[in-house]
This record gives sequence, C-alpha cells and structure tokens, in this order.
Amino acid sequence: MPAEKNVDRLTTTSSSLLPLLDALPDAVVIVDTDHRIALANSRAEEMFGHPVDTLKGSDLSMIIPALHRGTHWQRVSHYFRNPTPRPMGANKKFCGVHADGTEIPVDIMINTIILDGVRVAMAVVRDVSYQRELEERLIRESLTDGMTGFFNRKHFNNQLKADHSHFMRSGLPSSVIMFDFDSFKSINDKYGHAAGDIVLIDSATMIEGELRPSDVACRIGGEEFAIILPDTPIKNAMALAERIRTKIEGMEFRLEGTDFHATVTLSVASFLPSDTSYESLVRRADKALYVGKAAGRNCVATQESLAEVPEPE
Ligand code: GH3
Ligand code: MG
Ligand code: MG
Repeated sequence: MPAEKNVDRLTTTSSSLLPLLDALPDAVVIVDTDHRIALANSRAEEMFGHPVDTLKGSDLSMIIPALHRGTHWQRVSHYFRNPTPRPMGANKKFCGVHADGTEIPVDIMINTIILDGVRVAMAVVRDVSYQRELEERLIRESLTDGMTGFFNRKHFNNQLKADHSHFMRSGLPSSVIMFDFDSFKSINDKYGHAAGDIVLIDSATMIEGELRPSDVACRIGGEEFAIILPDTPIKNAMALAERIRTKIEGMEFRLEGTDFHATVTLSVASFLPSDTSYESLVRRADKALYVGKAAGRNCVATQESLAEVPEPE
C-alpha cells in the first residue's frame, strides 16, 4: 500500500517523533498488537500519573479502568483487523485511570501507523472532564424545575416508565403520590403571586426531608406535584401522603410580615399487573385526585376508591 510507505518513511526512528509528540496538548499512547505500550508522550505521563519509562513496555491495561480491561484486548485486536482513522467507540464514553485510581473522562481518536517497521495503533487521548461535567449539568438542568429543585414532568415520565418495566420484571410494588394545591388561585389573589411561590418552595423543602434517597420528587405542573416511591406498597405510600397532607396543613407561610396557610389534595396509586404502560397508573392517580377534590379537598384519595365513583369526563 503506498500510504503505508509514506508513513514508514516518516517514522523510521520512533524516538525522533518524541519532540513532536511532547509538544502536543493531548496525550498520545502508541500500542502494539500485543496490547503493550510502545510509546507515550509527556502529556500521557501527566494524565495517567505514570512516568513515560514505566508506561513504555507496560500492558495498556495499566491505564484502563478495571471494569473494561477484559474487553479492551478484543477491541484492540479488532481494531488491528479493521484499521481506519476514527474516534474510538463512536457514541461510547471512555475513561482512563490515573495511578492514584481516579478515572479521567477521555475522548480517543485512533489510527494505525508503521513505526520502525511494525504496525502499531496510535491513540490521541483528550481529557474531556470539563465537557462531560457541562453535559451532565445541562442534562440535569433540562430535567429539573428551577423553582423547587424537584425534577420536572419529563423526568417524571422517564422515571415512571423505567419503574413500570422494573415492576413488570420483578413484581415488586411501586407507588406514586400525586398532589395539587387546593384553591391556589385564591392564595395568589389574596396574598400575591410571590406568596404562592413561597408556598410551593417551602412545601418542596419540607417534602424533601420526608423522602428516602430512592424516592423521586417531581413538579409536574404549576402547583401539581408527584412523588415516585420505588419498591413501596400502597399502604406505605398512603401513610406518607397523609403525613405530607398534615404537615402542609400545619405549615405557616410568611411573606413581608403576612402569614398564610395552604392545603393539598393527594392521590395514591400503585402499579397493577394489568397495567400495560406507566400511563395507566398516571390515569388512576389523576382520577383519584379528582375524587379527592370532589370530596372536599385537603384529603388523601387512593386508586382503591375509584371503583365506587363515576369517572370524570
Ligand atoms: P383546586 O383546588 O381545584 O386545585 O383549585 P386551584 O385554584 O388550585 O385550581 P387550578 O389548578 O385551576 O389553579 C391553579 C393556579 O395555580 C393557577 C395558577 O395561576 C397558579 N399557579 C400555577 N403555577 C404557579 C406558580 O409557579 N406560582 C404561583 N404563585 N401560582 C401558580
Ligand atoms: Mg392544578
Ligand atoms: Mg389546585
């Protein structure tokens, strides 16, 4: 192949490449077909915390997280059979491992070259900690309500969908509490919109303190909330709903020296084996909430009460 001859001419002495490799802002790790590091630049020493002389001749596993070491061998062998210049594992997220055990998020571009007559794979490794953190923050923000810090409706749907699949596989009970503030319009009308906001924020803070780490609190509408309670039977969910109802009823909210109160109507529903999707549970919880509102508000209604009442239009 003429391309190989070109590269061959350029790389007859690997050591002559070092000044060039050391000037690069990215780490470069050159690996032979036996998964051994043939060459590494000083940025690789910095990134992985091993002296270049230690890296050279070591198995590449030294800088790969333990979890991926087994499969990496196969990846490298596969790459030597299909060598094209490309990002490694497009759409996959990779990490390297530092000598102190910390993992470094990296993007890797790979290519093969002939170095001193031997075909080797050259990986250009870029530290992408900043980009990964930014990406995670943007994802988190896109799923979070800025006012309460709770998750938003989008996350509620995603999470409940996952919980429905888990329920279908495991059969373990999972429940949801939904609630809506009572006559919230009149709180806004009487005390102002800022007062309404305080009710939502303070209630969310109180609720946060009532939940387990696995519970997922969401603001699914203006003054409508939902809490996903994984692996929780309906009885326990009802007890929590009643505790939230009582606590909100007893809270004293305050804005500019004025005190005011609020109440909520809550509904509780659990997955049933007949649920074909998470939306079936949401429909039951919605209906139960309607039942609670119709029964006079400031109460807890459950899906078990639905059989006795006509469905809303
Ligand atoms: P109900 O007991 O039937 O739920 O009565 P309601 O007045 O709460 O009825 P509805 O759900 O129709 O009204 C909700 C009101 O909540 C209307 C809207 O202006 C107000 N609201 C929605 N989001 C916010 C918010 O973020 N802050 C404030 N202050 N008010 C909000
Ligand atoms: Mg509402
Ligand atoms: Mg309301």
